[in-house]
Amino acid sequence: MISKSCPVCASPLFKVGKDIICPKCNRPVVIVGIAEDEQRALGGKILEMVESTILGKIGELNELMRAESDPERSRALGEALSVWLSALERLRRLSEGRGT
Ligand SMILES: [Zn+2]
Repeated sequence: MISKSCPVCASPLFKVGKDIICPKCNRPVVIVGIAEDEQRALGGKILEMVESTILGKIGELNELMRAESDPERSRALGEALSVWLSALERLRRLSEGRGT
C-alpha cells in the first residue's frame, strides 16, 4: 500500500511492480502533478512574491500619504494602508505556519 489514494474511488492504492494499481477500479493509476515537497516550495515562492507585492503597495501608499494634504483623501489612503498591513500580517502568519 502506498500513501496515495485513488483519484476516482479514494481507495488505497497498491504498487505492483512499476505500476500503481487501484484494486477497486481494477486499473492502473497514473499519479499526476508535482511531488508534495515541490508543491510546498512553489507555495513558499508564491507567498514570497505576494509579500513583495504587498510591501510595494505599502511603500506606494506611504509616498501618497506623505504628499497628501487633504484630510479626507489622507484618511482613504490610511484605510487602504490598513488593508494592506493586515494582508501582510495574515500572509506572514501563513508563512510561519508553513515553517518557512
Ligand atoms: Zn479506484
